[in-house]
Amino acid sequence: MLATGYKRVSKKRPCCVCGKPDWCSTTVTETISFCARSTLNSDRVSRYGWGVFYHDASRSDFSFDFKRNFKQLPKTKKSKVSHEMAPLAIRDKVYRKLIELSPATSNHVIVKGRGGLLERGILDFSHYGNLPRLINERRVLVERLVEELGKEGLRSFEGIPGFWRDTRRRLRLWSEQDAFDDLMLIAFVGPDDLIRACQIRFMRYIPNKSGRYVWLSSLKEKDGCGPGAPLHHANPCSRSAKSILVTEGALKAATAQRLLPDRYVVGNSGVATSHREIIETARRKPLEIAFDNDSFTNPHVARALAALLRSRSADQRSFAYDDAVTILSWDRRVKGLDEALLASLKLSSLTVAEWLKGLTPECREQANRQLFPG
Ligand SMILES: [Zn+2]
Repeated sequence: MLATGYKRVSKKRPCCVCGKPDWCSTTVTETISFCARSTLNSDRVSRYGWGVFYHDASRSDFSFDFKRNFKQLPKTKKSKVSHEMAPLAIRDKVYRKLIELSPATSNHVIVKGRGGLLERGILDFSHYGNLPRLINERRVLVERLVEELGKEGLRSFEGIPGFWRDTRRRLRLWSEQDAFDDLMLIAFVGPDDLIRACQIRFMRYIPNKSGRYVWLSSLKEKDGCGPGAPLHHANPCSRSAKSILVTEGALKAATAQRLLPDRYVVGNSGVATSHREIIETARRKPLEIAFDNDSFTNPHVARALAALLRSRSADQRSFAYDDAVTILSWDRRVKGLDEALLASLKLSSLTVAEWLKGLTPECREQANRQLFPG
């Protein structure tokens, strides 16, 4: 059996890794997925940061020109072990300096472009940078970074996701290739206000496609490491907030935090990620879930949301509290919470039972399987 081509994912056949209908692709036989958004637990990572996932054990089935696009990595599944990350304070220092030396404001596409910061109602740019598109520009930036941080006594970049050393021991940042798009750097901040990791948003606008995000990672390089999938805390200082609101992505979280200042807003990097951290953050507090409005029709989102609900009930039992969980909903034609808020749409809070009632049969089956296993 030969798999000779690729096909793009679509609304009908969304990516089985991230659940989205665009950017990602599979082989025609659907035995291998190439996810543009997630490398978590992938079998390989491509040169451009795509996660490559094999769906069955018959990986000798494919014979297309794999080596041309993808680095040869060890064949055993999950054998690519991430090296240990540097201490939090060091990571924070490096990423803050990186953003300071190459701020979002140095690239108008990131600030004013389609899908940029201003369009999202984000007015504080301090957590956003401009990752140079060209390898030579990144090299210059790294030299400045080394010089500046050297003055502060920081000399090792070991364990900082995104950084690695080439065979001549030169410090490198991210990919060995020039990128076609402008690249926004998005800081993921922890509850202690320290930057854990950065995501990259490819700024090219393509109608009817959502943005493409990858982690700033050097997992695929020798001695490099990946950031895992940390949870972003939009305003860690606002601990007095009564309820915790979770949405997908740091940018949506920033918009939501600005427009819903009475909430403590967190953003995960995908509907299925950081569940434990969300549960811990929301312990003994009301939890509002505001993933994209397609949880009613997208089985992947419905399943992830139900898994989160299940972890929350388990936590409620273990820690004896009964604060409410609600699912936020708005006009179904609008996808993200950020768009809904910017358009001043009315938000409604659904109970779990109300949410289940609104799901398509396929989504309800997925949700029920999570909520009532066995
Ligand atoms: Zn995908």
